[in-house]
Amino acid sequence: MHDFLAGVRDLLCPPTCSICGKPWAAAERMPWCPPCDGALPRLRQPIAPAPSPNLDGIVAAARYASCVRDALQAFKYPRPNAGIAFLDAAATQTVLQLAREASALAWSRYGVAEGVVPIPLHPKRLRERGFNQANTLARCIARQWGLPLRTRQLSRTRHTKSQTELTRRERHANLAGAFASRPGRGPLWLVDDITTTGSTLEHAAQALKRAGASRVVAICVAQATGD
Ligand SMILES: [Zn+2]
Repeated sequence: MHDFLAGVRDLLCPPTCSICGKPWAAAERMPWCPPCDGALPRLRQPIAPAPSPNLDGIVAAARYASCVRDALQAFKYPRPNAGIAFLDAAATQTVLQLAREASALAWSRYGVAEGVVPIPLHPKRLRERGFNQANTLARCIARQWGLPLRTRQLSRTRHTKSQTELTRRERHANLAGAFASRPGRGPLWLVDDITTTGSTLEHAAQALKRAGASRVVAICVAQATGD
């Protein structure tokens, strides 16, 4: 019955590659076509070793470049326009697949976690944007591994300046004490869309460790070049 329904769906809406949009009968767990797979900006080192005592490792699926950057931007800033909405669905498919890939790398290197924690947005920014993209990623990863999603584990204690224009040192000062964690033991996965210098992840991990987490591994879709 499933095959029949899938056949009807494919007739009504022929499957296409989530990156280039050309016809592509997605194989299991592979929403993009082989040429797009070959062109994905992969990282030479997708698993970065412990950058600080608070954070035990950072895993990213790809570099923040070309089609990955396009997909992440469409995923983060969807526009309520019918034409674009279709593109956004494809972008979301690409981004979620990259998140699943990063979580598989984290699992193989560090073992499974006891919970999946998204980096929270400050309520003010959440109101501006309408949704927290890290929640969507964390929910997808939690489902993939059958783990509890802990959206309330971390909170923002204050509204911080946008990190994009700041140097590494300024980022650390900007984020000092910006996160608070509820008590929670065991190893955790910390999820965000993009990591640049790792400052946000480090400060969030510090709050989690202080609250009792035994290990914190960050899982990100993309790694942007730091300063
Ligand atoms: Zn393609």
